[in-house]
Amino acid sequence: MKKLIIANWKMHYGPLKAGAWVRAFRRERLPKDLDVAVAAPFVSLAAVRASLGRASIPALAAQDAFWANEGAFTGEIAPVMLSEFSCAYCLVGHSERRINLGETDEMVAKKAAVLQKAGISPVICVGETETQRRKGEQDKIVRAQLTAAVAGLKGDGRAVPVVAYEPVWAIGTGRPCTPQHAKDMHGNLRGVLKKKFGAAADHVRIVYGGSVDLRNIGEFLTTTGIDGALVGGASLDPRNFALLCRAAIPA
Ligand code: PEP
Repeated sequence: MKKLIIANWKMHYGPLKAGAWVRAFRRERLPKDLDVAVAAPFVSLAAVRASLGRASIPALAAQDAFWANEGAFTGEIAPVMLSEFSCAYCLVGHSERRINLGETDEMVAKKAAVLQKAGISPVICVGETETQRRKGEQDKIVRAQLTAAVAGLKGDGRAVPVVAYEPVWAIGTGRPCTPQHAKDMHGNLRGVLKKKFGAAADHVRIVYGGSVDLRNIGEFLTTTGIDGALVGGASLDPRNFALLCRAAIPA
């Protein structure tokens, strides 16, 4: 399976800066054997698309979507609207949304299912909080989050989901988990996927997120069971992010 690195810009970069980021990133040398995507704010998706021209790297990703394709849902964005932009991926259940906006496992599951039907691979974010980890509940928590999120998904090879394991305590703190911790948790999550999808689970990438940077990406991506990374802070500078992609897959 090709490794996948997704930049999560979070609430950074309106259309002007987003376009400049893409143009700068496109000037950098990138490893051939790597999938790269950029999760941009909704209003910047068009600028990213325009700056890409005919290039397909980085692929376009959204940071969220609603669980219906049309209707009286003021302010929401439908998965079919994102597929008109040729979004390949869309994050769902990022911990910042679970914590700040009260997103539940049920909402995440509904979003993931409608996205997949619209042809967009949902990137399902799961992860335990510091408190849950201190209580030793992390395995149970992330297994429950993923089991709920994949309930309505199909394993027919279309819009294959991605799982992002992101321990909440490691996001934006400069304190990543150890590659061994991620490896153990990815094994745990792989078990959930196998139960749901059988052999098709082998095509689902499980990426790690949480303070990934230029110095630690190599170690994460050479660890068995880690199929890529979701990168927040270290993706904001296009040159730094390109260097990170190169460090992920050394020539
Ligand atoms: C994220 O936003 O998903 C993330 C992992 O952020 P950071 O890389 O900044 O920890």
